[in-house]
Amino acid sequence: MSEMRQDPTTKEWVIIAAERSRRPDEFRQQSKRERKSYSVTCPFCLGNEHFTPLETFAIRDSGSPNTPGWRIRVVPNKFAALSPQVIPRRSDDGLLFRGMEGFGYHEVIIETPHHDRDLPLMSEDEILNILETYRHRYKLLREDERVKLIVIFRNYGERAGTSLLHPHSQLVAVPVIPFHTRQKYEEATRHYDDTGRCLYCDLRNAEREYGKRVVLETGHWLVFHPFASQAPFETWIVPKRHASCFASMTNAELPELASVLRRILHGLHTLLNDPDFNMIIHTAPVEDENTPYFVWHIEIYPRLTTPAGFELGSGIFINVAAPEETAHLLREIVAAS
Ligand SMILES: [Zn+2]
Ligand SMILES: [Zn+2]
Repeated sequence: MSEMRQDPTTKEWVIIAAERSRRPDEFRQQSKRERKSYSVTCPFCLGNEHFTPLETFAIRDSGSPNTPGWRIRVVPNKFAALSPQVIPRRSDDGLLFRGMEGFGYHEVIIETPHHDRDLPLMSEDEILNILETYRHRYKLLREDERVKLIVIFRNYGERAGTSLLHPHSQLVAVPVIPFHTRQKYEEATRHYDDTGRCLYCDLRNAEREYGKRVVLETGHWLVFHPFASQAPFETWIVPKRHASCFASMTNAELPELASVLRRILHGLHTLLNDPDFNMIIHTAPVEDENTPYFVWHIEIYPRLTTPAGFELGSGIFINVAAPEETAHLLREIVAAS
């Protein structure tokens, strides 16, 4: 039997159509990636720094900018979707067609010099450096008053949108607050008006109390598979302290997040055999960094199924696994790690 569930943060519906016969090993990925520690044509490999635009930030042990000696490098995306060199002016033709120059920042965070050292296999210290780099870039780019929203994300594997294997994440800063974000904000505002409480704190507390979808809890973090998950193994990492801006993380919370992220990604890697995945940091728009009704969080989507015509036509996702069951599987793996 399937069940329809409504996401309390968006009011969107999903169909949980867990196939009873589906065993956990059926979610395991078949294909093995080709692994090598260096690629002569890879623009992100050590010694190939001249293939990228000039770096905007690096964590280095030695060397001068744009030479080897780095642990993490940040560079503008060579094929950037947006450019900081233009002014984001709206144009309106008096009809329906509003446009704007493509202003924004589009950066690549090269997470390691090693071509095959992927995030789920990194040490806590390496992941901590990456999170610190995200925070550093966020804090710098938010100072540009044209920037309204900063999205930090990671695509891994072709089903997640990249064929570039070298470990990297991306940051895009845009001059608008998109409809998708506004809609979530409107729901959160309505909840706040109705109850005087923060929807995301309520959601985190409810998941914690219910317990069956909780994967991991530490002093500062709660990890769960949400009630209305859109896809199998959709995983949320949420701070236990109310905070709407990712960059407001304290120096106590940050290393613990590195540890949590390593354990979760390693667990998914083990359980699903190195799946393609997207990871997104959802943080408030710059002007709402101190809002009382939103909590920043990380969402991870292993790419095990492909949304198709029904999802495009209805916005209703069909999830073939119950989050209660996937949370249980991941919880056991993470507990044993
Ligand atoms: Zn490489
Ligand atoms: Zn809250």
